[in-house]
This record gives sequence, structure tokens and C-alpha cells, in this order.
Amino acid sequence: MELEVLQPKQEGRADSFWYDGVIARLGEFTLIAVGDIRIVMYEADGSTRIYRDGQAVDEARGRGYVDADLYSIERVAEWYNNNWFEVIHPKDGGETLNDVEWDYDAGIAVLKDTFQSVCPKCLESFRVHNDDGSCVKD
Ligand SMILES: [Zn+2]
Repeated sequence: MELEVLQPKQEGRADSFWYDGVIARLGEFTLIAVGDIRIVMYEADGSTRIYRDGQAVDEARGRGYVDADLYSIERVAEWYNNNWFEVIHPKDGGETLNDVEWDYDAGIAVLKDTFQSVCPKCLESFRVHNDDGSCVKD
């Protein structure tokens, strides 16, 4: 099974902030970027303004920001909400199967990990399967 990447990693932008929706697929598992973004950025005149979701990403991208700028207190005054990466499966009812991640590579690693360790039929670890390896839901 090959990893299918729908949103490749962007140079200098590994934070989930830069991504939205389906990132990659592996088997029946999907890595998505999800969650609300709400940040306070400094304007050219020194005032601050709240940006949300796609508007925040467009603004930061338009300014040529990369990860380091997001974490700079001279550029971003405050983070109220941030999105994240999570692995989902069609059967899981939208609940994430693992801990969430904020780093692109860490997200991809969780996707690969999940594919290798979680049964797509029962969404349990392969370790809790029958002694012969067959799924308990078979
Ligand atoms: Zn199973």
C-alpha cells in the first residue's frame, strides 16, 4: 500500500496552520488538518488584528511568513485557537484514532503508524486479534 499525498509539505511550513482538509491517505486511513484558527497578528502600523481560518493562512502566506514567523512575538501577538493534524477512518465517526499532532512529518508518521498497527475492520490494535492473526470481527 502506497502513501498518497494530496497536500505536499511546504518549504519552511511544517505547522498544521498552513494546511486544511485531507493531507494524505494510506489504505483506509486519512490524515487531515482540522480545527479552528484564530490568531492576533501585528499590522504594519503596529496595531493588532484578529485573523481566522483561511483568512489567517492567506494573510500569513501573503506576507511571506514561514513557521518561524508564526512563533515570533513580533509578528503574532497571540494564538486563540489553532488547528492540528489527526488520523481518521470512515468507520470511526469522525473521532481521531490517535493523539493529534502539529508537525507535518509527525502527522505523516502517525498515519503510517496507524496503518501498521490498527485493524481497518475493527479499529482495534492488531495485537488484540485472535492468536492466528484474524480479526475478532470476522
Ligand atoms: Zn480487526
